[in-house]
Amino acid sequence: MTTLESPTRQVVAPRIFDGRVAVVTGGTRGIGAAITQELVKHGAHVAAGYNRDLDTASRLRDELTASGGSISIHQGNVGEPGDCGRVIEDVLSTHGRVDFLVNNAGITLDKTVRRMSLDDWHAVMHINISGAFYMIKAVLEHMLERGSGRIVNLSSVIGQTGNIGQANYAASKAALFGLSQSLALETARKGITVNCVAPGFIETEMVSAIPEEILKSIVDKVPVRRLGRPSEVARVVRFLLEDDAAYITGAVYTVNGGMSP
Ligand code: NAP
Repeated sequence: MTTLESPTRQVVAPRIFDGRVAVVTGGTRGIGAAITQELVKHGAHVAAGYNRDLDTASRLRDELTASGGSISIHQGNVGEPGDCGRVIEDVLSTHGRVDFLVNNAGITLDKTVRRMSLDDWHAVMHINISGAFYMIKAVLEHMLERGSGRIVNLSSVIGQTGNIGQANYAASKAALFGLSQSLALETARKGITVNCVAPGFIETEMVSAIPEEILKSIVDKVPVRRLGRPSEVARVVRFLLEDDAAYITGAVYTVNGGMSP
């Protein structure tokens, strides 16, 4: 058992991931930080990726290390295949294994299709879907050689429903379903599972960028009538990484307060 303390509560969790190594892209902020905390709390070493925000990444590393957790932080742009390969190589050279890949890094650039430039379209598609593909390419041979691995891709309810002003984001998140289901079929007999988690509206900086009035109208449409918490998404990701989830692959788990896709 390990104990990680936060100012508000003390969490004791079974170390089900002792000896396991996870790579979490965008793992130092928002939902990604919650996933990192959840996996560290359960005994994994987490290699948490970040792109620009070194201060936030360093703070999370220092906090979790001080609580007895095992975490390293890795700068890299998931839109650059070379960066993805370098991060995986760094983790392999230090730890010798990658058990879990969580493709969580993502961006939005919201505009209606009429106003959306080609650059807006390509930027979001590039980071959200090609970035996940580049990370998978960087780690897949290693997982195949070991005959085991877990991949979880963070999609979104918007990839299931579409949304005004989010055609690029919705397309990129829907594309993650196709990527995940195809890879799940390709690796089903090789000890690797590939799944998607599709959150609804979760309290992070990505959502706090939405104007207050629009946010209120969004919450009114959520049957549970509140935003989700990053930790509520993180627990589902953790479940999909557990040994007991070996029979779940090519699936989409929604965490959306009852919004029907
Ligand atoms: P967030 O708070 O904006 O954090 C995004 C994370 O991705 C940051 O750690 C950021 O790194 C990283 N990132 C962005 N661009 C990157 C790049 N090019 N290369 C590497 N890392 C990059 O986002 P979030 O709200 O936690 O969302 C996390 C994931 O869940 C995203 O895929 C998002 O689409 C999905 N999601 C979120 C919601 C929601 O309501 N929040 C709902 C559904 C799905 P830096 O900190 O270094 O910039």
